[in-house]
Amino acid sequence: MKKGFWMTLWFLECLISKMTDHTKGFVRQRGNIFEDVADVRIKQFESANATAEVENALIFNSSRKISEFWTSNLKHTIFFPERFRIKMINSIVTHNHPRGFDLSIADILTLLRNNLAEIRAVTSNGDVFSMKYKGKLINKDKLIDDIEEIQKDFTKNGGSLEDEFEQVYNAIKNDVEYIHYTKQ
Ligand SMILES: [Zn+2]
Repeated sequence: MKKGFWMTLWFLECLISKMTDHTKGFVRQRGNIFEDVADVRIKQFESANATAEVENALIFNSSRKISEFWTSNLKHTIFFPERFRIKMINSIVTHNHPRGFDLSIADILTLLRNNLAEIRAVTSNGDVFSMKYKGKLINKDKLIDDIEEIQKDFTKNGGSLEDEFEQVYNAIKNDVEYIHYTKQ
């Protein structure tokens, strides 16, 4: 694993995102927020942080029923200290997207690189975006390589973030479930 990646994990979180709703079209399923079976602690965190001005995160370990709050007090970024590395394995990480975006490529890489069970983001209107593996992910390393190659191509050749997200999503869509829970 590359040195330093941990601290820069979400560095580009939303930072390179355009000020538009760019990826909601890729959500495969839409559900009512009441269909969301997340633990009450996750839901409470998401309700409490939906309109927060900085990005805050909750790392929730389902098997140990332990949740831990973390923030870097930044508007578009969360830096996780090294001590979270083990805690994040098989955990659910949720956070707020103050600007209302759905999941970013950085979030997808966070899911894969940290062996999360699920990555979630709540927007300011209370909608929740969730991505998790459909089954056991056996080709994780290849998926990460593929996504990094796509990112390199777009860095080198340019292109819209929407196109970049589409390519990334196409690379993983058979392996993940991506749900947009809405309040209505
Ligand atoms: Zn995010």
